[in-house]
Amino acid sequence: MKNLFRLCCILFSGFIFSQNENPNIIFLIGDGMGLSQISAGMYANGNKTALEDFTTVGLSKTYSSDNLVTDSAASGTAMATGVKTYNGAIGLDPNKNPHISILEICAEKGYKTALLATSSIVHATPASFYAKVPSRKNYEDIALALSKHSVNLFFGGGKKHFEKREDGRDLIDEMDSYDFVKNLRQLEKSTSDKIGYFTYDDEPPRKLDDRTPALDEAVEIALEKLKAHDQPFFMMVEGSQIDWGGHANETDYILSEFKEFDTTLQKVLEFAKKEGNTLVVVTADHETGGFALTQGSIETGAMIGKFNTKGHTATLVPVFSYGPYAALFSGIYENTAIFEKMKSIVK
Ligand code: MG
Ligand code: ZN
Repeated sequence: MKNLFRLCCILFSGFIFSQNENPNIIFLIGDGMGLSQISAGMYANGNKTALEDFTTVGLSKTYSSDNLVTDSAASGTAMATGVKTYNGAIGLDPNKNPHISILEICAEKGYKTALLATSSIVHATPASFYAKVPSRKNYEDIALALSKHSVNLFFGGGKKHFEKREDGRDLIDEMDSYDFVKNLRQLEKSTSDKIGYFTYDDEPPRKLDDRTPALDEAVEIALEKLKAHDQPFFMMVEGSQIDWGGHANETDYILSEFKEFDTTLQKVLEFAKKEGNTLVVVTADHETGGFALTQGSIETGAMIGKFNTKGHTATLVPVFSYGPYAALFSGIYENTAIFEKMKSIVK
C-alpha cells in the first residue's frame, strides 16, 4: 500500500513536471560594465562580442534609494529582490526589512541554484542573492548567511571569512552538507547536491595576474552539473572585476576582465541554444569610471580610453536577453523590474 502510494506520487509529480514550463534562468552581471566597456571589449576582440547573439536589448535605471549613483550592494539588491535601497545595503530595504531574492524564490519552487563570481563569494553582488545585512562590509555575517543557505553550488574567493573569524567559528566545518572542491576536476567529479568551491582565501587576483580557474570553464562544468537534475535551475554569474578595472582607471584591466566575461557569455549561449528552455539575461549593476573610448583602432584592437571618475556613474546600463521570455526585457525600466520580470516567469 505504501509502495502504491509512492508510485502514485511519482506519477503525479511526473505529470506536474511535464506541465511545468519553468525555464532555467542564467543571470549574468558584468559589474561596472557600461556601454563603453562593452564597446572597448568588442573592438579589442576583433569587433565581436557574444552579446551580438542576444535577441532583445533593454536599458536599466540604476540609481539607489539614497543616491543618484548606486553602489553594487544597492543595485545588486534591486535586481535580486526588487527593492530600491540605500548604498551599502544587502537584501534589506531602506527600513532594514529583509526581502526574498529571486534565487530564493526559485529555490522555493524547486529550482537548483548556483552562484559564481570572480570576486569573493561574500562580495556585494553575489551576497545580494542570499544575505540580508545592513552593510556590505559585514563579511563575517554574510559568510554566516551563506553557510546557512540552500545554494546548491557556489564558486568564488573569500574563504578566510568562513574559517578565520572573530567569533572563532569554522563555518566550513559547520557546512557539513557541502562537498568542498579545490579544482575543476573535483568540481566535475562531485556528485554532491551542495558544492562549494573557494577559489582564493581573499579576493581573487586580476585576470592580468593569472587568476585561475577561468570563469567560463567553471560555468561550463556547473551547467553540466545543473543540467543533470530533473529540476530547472537558477544561476547567477558575475564578472566582478570589470568594475575594479574601472575604479583603477585602467583600460587593459577592463579589457581582460571583459574578455573572460564575454567568453563565458558565449559558452552560456551555446548551452541555451543546445538545451532550449533557458532564459539568459546579461546586464550591469552600474557603469564604473565614466569611461569613454576616445581613440583606438579597429584594425589592431588597440583601445585608448579616458576616465571621468574613480567611482561609479549613474548612466543607464544595457540589458541583453535570449531564450524564452526574452522579449520581456526590451524597453527602459528600473533595475528593480529585472527582479519582477524574472519572478513573473517562475510559476
Ligand atoms: Mg560586484
Ligand atoms: Zn565598484
